Amino acid sequence: MERLTGVAASPGIAIGVAHVLGSRVDVHERRIAAEAVEAELQRFEIALRTTDEQLARIQQQIALRESDEHQYRVLEAHRLMLSDVHLVEQTRRHIRDDHTAAEWAVRQTLDQIQAVFARIEDPYFRDRRSDFAYVGENLLRNLMGGADAAEPDEAPRGSVAVAHELSPADAAQLGRAEVAGFCTEGGGRTSHTAIIARAMGLPYVVGVEGLGHKVWSGMTLIIDGSRGEVILDPDEEALGRYRARADVARERARHLEATRDAPAVTLDGVQIHLAANVEMLEEIPIAVDLGAVSVGLFRTEFLYLERPDLPSEDEQHLHAVAALKSMQGRRITFRTLDLGGDKLPASVRIPSGTNPAMGLRSIRYSLHRPDLFRTQLRALYRAAAVGPMQILFPLISGVAELRAAKKICADVCDELAREGVPHDSKVPVGVMVETPSAALISDLLAAECDFLSIGTNDLIQYALAADRDDEHVGYLYHPLHPAILRALKQVVLGANKMGKPVAMCGDMAGDPMFAWVLLGLGLRNFSMAPRQIPVIKSIIRATDLFDAERMLAQAMAMSTETEIEAMVYRAMRERFPTEVNEGEG
Ligand code: PEP
Ligand code: MG
Repeated sequence: MERLTGVAASPGIAIGVAHVLGSRVDVHERRIAAEAVEAELQRFEIALRTTDEQLARIQQQIALRESDEHQYRVLEAHRLMLSDVHLVEQTRRHIRDDHTAAEWAVRQTLDQIQAVFARIEDPYFRDRRSDFAYVGENLLRNLMGGADAAEPDEAPRGSVAVAHELSPADAAQLGRAEVAGFCTEGGGRTSHTAIIARAMGLPYVVGVEGLGHKVWSGMTLIIDGSRGEVILDPDEEALGRYRARADVARERARHLEATRDAPAVTLDGVQIHLAANVEMLEEIPIAVDLGAVSVGLFRTEFLYLERPDLPSEDEQHLHAVAALKSMQGRRITFRTLDLGGDKLPASVRIPSGTNPAMGLRSIRYSLHRPDLFRTQLRALYRAAAVGPMQILFPLISGVAELRAAKKICADVCDELAREGVPHDSKVPVGVMVETPSAALISDLLAAECDFLSIGTNDLIQYALAADRDDEHVGYLYHPLHPAILRALKQVVLGANKMGKPVAMCGDMAGDPMFAWVLLGLGLRNFSMAPRQIPVIKSIIRATDLFDAERMLAQAMAMSTETEIEAMVYRAMRERFPTEVNEGEG
């Protein structure tokens, strides 16, 4: 038994058999005699055929599931790679001319191909590189006797997926494959992959060093997504302990969910608006069930991921209409495309630049590609005829950008009016406060839009200059840093000054540890992963706002995040032992 420590990214406990994704097969250099060349070439041909047959079998299974056309095509591309002239000819040459064993010949060829891909910056080719690696590693497994599945959607139900990195799309596939949880060597707790894990209620630990060397498929693992730990090969005693903790957590969740219909009102009678963040249509009924009174953040870009083509205006319109209908009259805040950074669609190429988080992402990309932006806006304005909604622009860094986005909205509405297409041009438009510049000018932005919504995941990464996806700087990511508290205060004041509503939809809003700090700051509108709603509501219903304001005043008087965290964590643990994660057991 061994315990590895990482960062808690999605709470809960998962116990299952490890399924290692995309692991590199260990191949040793081996030379063969001249007489063995023909037999070795033959072995290579058989492995190519076997790999192709395996892929064809998966493809056939997928063909039965109508909705998975994209995956079907990906597998088609994988099968084509098996006849790629570089892969086949170069490997044959290594066997024939250098007298190397087939697996060593394949490994050398794959490394050469990967080196070529590595020199290409384009994210599209980066993805093709991992496709090639996937096909190549499967080929090697067949050559070395025994294939091992390596695609996320092939992970066995109830297993624990282990990977170096996972994209948000991988996480969604793992969720659909019904894994018990997952862990990665890389990643950050506010990455989009972590957001998907939390949305699906799957325990996830990121930044676990040594995972790749120490875990192999078939080993029993425990993922403790609340404490950020991975236990390898647990003994009976540990298994019993963690099973008991999982039971306690389940019981606690059941108990909290019982308050679903109770109002989110503080002891002194102040109503707090609790909304849900959603990425996929399937989450909406769950969110409503857990007590969401609206959707405060619909991350529309997820409709663009996991597919090779762009969604049409009609498809986006139908998608938004379906979302509004399933909300049964409750409001949805649709955020316009937030592509780029770690959310890269296969359908368009987004220049990554040297620092993708600071590059052409989000609203910048939408303004750079007005054709895509207009298509999305047309779909949304048309859907507004069906139910209450708002439009939210991500990553706004200044008033000029807001005006440019609003101008396109106005043009789109004029166009729809000219065409006689039913729509609602009065949809409120809001700004996400995710950059330090937006926080500093929140009053100027509030003056020119209808509402603000604070995205703390990005605001913290930009304010503290700590990449939210990079495990090496995860130690700097502190929501209670004095600079963050001051920035949040400024945003609330800016919105209040202009008489505009302000919400928070970053992950900070759904963390029970921060509930009092945020209430103390004056926030009354929170949007969070649906599963967090019951626990936050439970805290609100037991809160006197005076206590929260007193805690905030104490925090604002401190100089370091360490002091603030010590004070806030201690007070919240004492006051809400069952609501904060550590209360699990
Ligand atoms: C945020 O940045 O806080 C936010 C809500 O947006 P996302 O996590 O999708 O970047
Ligand atoms: Mg963001």
